[in-house]
Amino acid sequence: FRGRKLECRIIPFENRRQILVTHDATESERLDAMRRDFIANASHELRTPLTVIVGFLEIALSDPGMDLATRTAHLHLMTEQGQRMQRLIGDMLTLSRLESDEFPLKRERVDMRALVESVAEETRALSGGRHAVEVECEGPDVMGSQEELRSAFANLASNAVRYSPDGGTIRLSWKRGPDDLRFAVTDSGIGIEPIHIARLTERFYRVDKSRSRETQGTGLGLAIVKHVLLRHGGRLLISSVPGQGSSFTAVLPNTSLGSESNSSENP
Ligand code: ADP
Repeated sequence: FRGRKLECRIIPFENRRQILVTHDATESERLDAMRRDFIANASHELRTPLTVIVGFLEIALSDPGMDLATRTAHLHLMTEQGQRMQRLIGDMLTLSRLESDEFPLKRERVDMRALVESVAEETRALSGGRHAVEVECEGPDVMGSQEELRSAFANLASNAVRYSPDGGTIRLSWKRGPDDLRFAVTDSGIGIEPIHIARLTERFYRVDKSRSRETQGTGLGLAIVKHVLLRHGGRLLISSVPGQGSSFTAVLPNTSLGSESNSSENP
């Protein structure tokens, strides 16, 4: 029992005897600590933009004669901070829905070719021509939640754009793995130091907070991806070389359906 937290209770039993009941509370303590951390982090993340908004409102109230240009600039900044709060709350609600038993996974046939192509289109739009986006789609359709898989794959692809300098290449591929199915996003971006990799799917964990915020990140994207994959019986693999690029692979169980899609290349 070394390193574990045990709770003991003595209960009276017949003939003046007693029973010692022990309960291993290590796991519930760990979950409590995680919950506390999440609330502390979420409060901090929401308080920062709110402080900016309240600050500008106070300035506006104390200076009724403020010129129009300054007022408009302040309104733009407040809108940005409000939108940041909306993204955070949206991601927090998504995470709690993914973890809740009240929203079990709804499986349907997912046309993977259409899904991967639409994620690629979205990635190109987000990149605005700053990166080459390549697509390879050879795997079969699967049974799963189209909406959840789409949001997970789009999340990985948008990270590739956000963490890659202009001129890089982003490759999306859907293929059969050794005994599974794999959607991989490979970029030629900034990469990640090995010490961070195991923690990337933790809520609000970021390697570089300011870069994440500049690019409208909430720090919850990979936690959402991990939960979507877990619900589908899958997992996320991450490999990276700092300064050279990263590869995020969503591994799904091999429950292939129908015929293979054709490969396509879209620079
Ligand atoms: P964020 O909203 O901050 O991007 P995520 O949960 O999506 O949150 O990612 C967590 C952190 O992982 C990011 O802040 C970033 O440091 C790192 N990261 C994610 N994807 C990549 C990538 N493709 N290249 C480099 N770093 C990445």
